[in-house]
Amino acid sequence: MKLLVTGGAGYVGSVCAARLVESGHEVVVVDDLSTGHADAVPQGCRFVEADVAEVAGSVLAERFDGVLHFAAKSLVGESMVDPRKYWEGNVVTSLRLLEAMRENGTPRLVFSSTAATYGEPDSVPIPETAPTAPTNTYGATKLAIDQAITSYASAHGLAAVSLRYFNVAGAHGQFGERHTVETHLIPIVLQVALGQRDQVQMYGTDWPTPDGTCVRDYIHVTDLADAHLLSLQHAEPGTHRIYNLGNGTGFSVKQVIDTCREVTGHSIPAAVAPRREGDPASLVASSQRARDELGWTPHRADLTTIVQDAWNFAGLGRPA
Ligand code: UDP
Repeated sequence: MKLLVTGGAGYVGSVCAARLVESGHEVVVVDDLSTGHADAVPQGCRFVEADVAEVAGSVLAERFDGVLHFAAKSLVGESMVDPRKYWEGNVVTSLRLLEAMRENGTPRLVFSSTAATYGEPDSVPIPETAPTAPTNTYGATKLAIDQAITSYASAHGLAAVSLRYFNVAGAHGQFGERHTVETHLIPIVLQVALGQRDQVQMYGTDWPTPDGTCVRDYIHVTDLADAHLLSLQHAEPGTHRIYNLGNGTGFSVKQVIDTCREVTGHSIPAAVAPRREGDPASLVASSQRARDELGWTPHRADLTTIVQDAWNFAGLGRPA
């Protein structure tokens, strides 16, 4: 297939673009490099450095078989203090992309949605039928885009899939996570092991969880990328399917730090810090629908494998 990958210079986008090229697809990446890195765009992709909202129409005027839409603003804390950046950067940009797809007859869309659309769940594991009640602006914008996609699928025949990621981690060889402002747990903990930080702060040890720290479902980025390839094959015209992607096993912040200690051999000092606003206590996916309908099976579900791959990538010493 000939595919447009928006945000293909970012973490998840670059890994998916690499997997698509490895699988023989023709890939065009559009990324404005606001948070991505030009050297993360995989070899074999055509790269257009531009804002998706501005160039979607002209790029899609060439015939494409589908779009994988990763380009987004994704910092929860920032979304609470600068909502315009998120409603415009995520929702307005996605509407422009949907319109460009409609005008040019682009048939398929795979969208990066998020577990943040569910907010504080009533119970875990979370199925796709759980109520959506985002607790932050980031999640609200992703939910709004999901709803717009549903409308476009039913009105205009788009074949669409939204993948709701839980905690993406690990690396795919030379493609991994390097945010200028790092907020994610595993890369922060590994920065301590690399001597780039003195300690990791655990945001709350008084949560209603077995060891008092928050529980999350960590999924390997390569397994996540595989779900995108399967979604392209299974998307059906006029239908918008939503799939949760996680391993179905929760690990606490303390368990993640312990695993990082084992993998790196570093003592990794950890300090107790106040809770972070907007954090749910526990987020664990039910990915049964993705397994049943897409035939998706995670092959790197083990937390040690996820951390080891992230550690190997961190050792490449790429600048943030
Ligand atoms: N966390 C932490 N210290 C950090 C970064 C994150 O204790 O320096 C916790 C955070 O409160 C959450 C978990 O680690 O419970 C995962 O956070 P992350 O930002 O990686 O992903 P999120 O679940 O927010 O998408």
